[in-house]
Formats: sequence, C-alpha cells, structure tokens
Amino acid sequence: MLDIRPNCEHCNKALPNTSTEAMICSFECTYCKHCALVVFENVCPSCSGNFVQRPIRPSKMIEKYPASSKQVFKPKDLEKTKLNSNAFKNILPEKR
Ligand SMILES: [Zn+2]
Ligand SMILES: [Zn+2]
Repeated sequence: MLDIRPNCEHCNKALPNTSTEAMICSFECTYCKHCALVVFENVCPSCSGNFVQRPIRPSKMIEKYPASSKQVFKPKDLEKTKLNSNAFKNILPEKR
C-alpha cells in the first residue's frame, strides 16, 4: 500500500490524497509535477528512476486507509540533481 505522502519533498507543496499533481518513483519519493518533470526532468534525484503520477486514494477510503501525515521535506542541491538528470534523462527508464 502506498504511503500517500502529504507534500513535495523538494518544494513542500501540499499533495493531499486527491491531488492530481503528485508524482512518485518506485520508492515513493514524492514530488509535485513541476519538480518531477521540469526541475528533475523525470529522473529521481535519489534513485535515478522515473516518475509516474500517483493515483488518487479515494476520499471514502481515507478513514480506513489513512494517507501518511509524515512530512518528508529535503530540498535537493540543484547542481547535483542537474548532473544526475543530465546523465540519465536521455536513457529510457527501463534501461537505466
Ligand atoms: Zn515540488
Ligand atoms: Zn526515487
């Protein structure tokens, strides 16, 4: 089951369970669409994998299966992420 983390790890934008802007990598590093696709160019700064849109957890399920309330906010060093993105962005995720 996904954590459904509450915010973007880089810019701290709120990403509630109903957000259509939440993007995750396979480890569930969680970013807003702008950070994932524009700032990091679809290369996760931690694992170099790609991002996909996080599915909505329907609000009627939230009481039984709550979204995480644990904020993960670790802004990245953009010089380092740029190097990482440049190294991987032109390689298909399945070949990284
Ligand atoms: Zn963001
Ligand atoms: Zn990752």
